[in-house]
Amino acid sequence: MSLAIGIVSGGLDSLLAMHLVRNMGFRVLALHFVTGFESALLRRLRADPAAPLEPPQPLHKTAAATGSDLETVDVRSEFLDLLVAPPHGFGSNLNPCLDCKIGMLRHARRIMEERGGELVFTGEVLGQRPMSQHRQALDLIERESGLGGRLLRPLSGRLLPATEPERRGSLKREALLAIRGRSRKEQMALAREFGLADYPAPAGGCLLTDPGYASRVRALMERRPGRRLRANDPLLLLLGRHAALPGGGRAFVGRNQEENLCLARYQATGTLCEAREVPGPSTLVEAPHTAADLEAAARLTAWYGKGRDRPRVTVACRSADGRVETLEVAPAFPEGCRLFGEAG
Ligand code: SF4
Repeated sequence: MSLAIGIVSGGLDSLLAMHLVRNMGFRVLALHFVTGFESALLRRLRADPAAPLEPPQPLHKTAAATGSDLETVDVRSEFLDLLVAPPHGFGSNLNPCLDCKIGMLRHARRIMEERGGELVFTGEVLGQRPMSQHRQALDLIERESGLGGRLLRPLSGRLLPATEPERRGSLKREALLAIRGRSRKEQMALAREFGLADYPAPAGGCLLTDPGYASRVRALMERRPGRRLRANDPLLLLLGRHAALPGGGRAFVGRNQEENLCLARYQATGTLCEAREVPGPSTLVEAPHTAADLEAAARLTAWYGKGRDRPRVTVACRSADGRVETLEVAPAFPEGCRLFGEAG
């Protein structure tokens, strides 16, 4: 039985593609890529920093139902490099979809060649997404991935040029579908046919397509050397309020116990401010920072805590080396401080 390598997000289209390719008689190895910006993953890591990079549950179920193997490919570090300046630019927000897909397909091609596979498949649908699924984009992705003729999009395959396996006769064109556009009616009917009940809504949970999150990413990139984010940044950007301090520093202000605990775990990256006598948020100020920015962060901590109506609040600021500086501040939103959209 020939091997087909699938790129599967766990969204409906990719699950359907797995079923279709399996029904064509291929053995399927499904690759689940982790870019580090998946909202479900970051929410898990927020609660538990040791949470594994697990593919979504519907993907496990489909792998079991189709007898497919399932592997996770961690591309988080190379994705942060890509985000600095993607050669094909961004989609409607900060999503570099074309280069993201090309990168995943190059990995899939390497794995296919190493393991003697015949083709790579995806759940892409012609005309479904503005940036990456119109005809020229599909052609460009195929060309730049180096997969020419060995990339199958089974949901739209009859609308696209024949692949090598079709030309050789090992795959019948009639087994492919001719779905086009944004309506998901045909996919829903197919899902019923394959007994697929629980699958995530379209759009996949990539936070870079979220305007509020993308604006916080952009703002933080401006501060990072060479615009490259650090490994923990995608998670920190999901936490609490993200503030640009008047002196150019950055602070993350927790909004609840879970976020406060999470910020406390990242204390090694800066100074953690907490009010002494009244409940309130934990605020992480990134190192290095100025004394003025630390004071601004202490005022923010007091402003968002239960001592907002007091004339002064005592805020303990613990730096990464364990040193504690105590500041007496008037609770106020500091002048010159900017907040970047509330995180989800
Ligand atoms: S939405 Fe995000 S994960 Fe999906 S292709 Fe675009 S950048 Fe990559």
